[in-house]
Amino acid sequence: MLKCSELFANYGSVAALKGISIEVQSGEIVAVIGSNGAGKTTLINSILGFVKPHKGTVIFEGQDITNIPAHKTTNLGISVVPEAREVFYSLTVKENLRMGLKKEIGKVKQQELEDRLVHLFDTFPRLKERINQQAGTLSGGEQQMLVISRALISNPKLLLLDEPSLGLAPIIVNEIFEIIKTLKKEGITIVLVEQIANKALSVADKAYVIENGKIVMSGSASELKENKDIAKAYLGV
Ligand code: ATP
Repeated sequence: MLKCSELFANYGSVAALKGISIEVQSGEIVAVIGSNGAGKTTLINSILGFVKPHKGTVIFEGQDITNIPAHKTTNLGISVVPEAREVFYSLTVKENLRMGLKKEIGKVKQQELEDRLVHLFDTFPRLKERINQQAGTLSGGEQQMLVISRALISNPKLLLLDEPSLGLAPIIVNEIFEIIKTLKKEGITIVLVEQIANKALSVADKAYVIENGKIVMSGSASELKENKDIAKAYLGV
């Protein structure tokens, strides 16, 4: 479904990606693990078109999207849950979800919207209880659920999750990862960027470890879980 080949990206003189290649098959969860500053967000932004790689290609469903701007890539069926986890504070949960309809906004009929909400609320019952609550008054975990739901309401083919566990209490992190497992069962293809390697590997099919803009290891999640170097570097063992 997605193939990034030899991506190089710079911010001025800072080289953030130094030849990254990853492949994602339909229905897979692919984890990209790495510490602060490794280049994970830059990789996501290169796929989306927010960052323009100076070398390499991004192919999505057979189409070269390397130089396509972000507003167009999202219309192709790629949704993102950014690291910043921004909600529209003064809007309600429902209004925030409507914003996720992107180019469909204003075109999706009321009944279709209600049907999509019913489906989402099966996975996110806490949001259903808070549908008319102002998003700014939700807890951090609830805001993360809202941002994930907002990314899902457009029925994306590919979901990019940028550090969904960041700043959340361990119990909420567990909840978020249970939700990620549910999404996989529904057949959504996911690229999951994470610093918490054991969590990412517990849900992923395969993973890439990125350090300083380069892939330093890759393999099936079960293989990498057994890997002593990963355990030392990312699991605190
Ligand atoms: P984190 O987990 O801390 O979010 P990351 O793995 O997502 O880190 P990136 O945000 O992709 O890493 O950053 C990769 C490198 O690019 C870092 O050295 C960072 O300082 C640099 N960088 C990122 N964004 C910019 C920018 N807008 N301008 C200049 N340098 C940047």
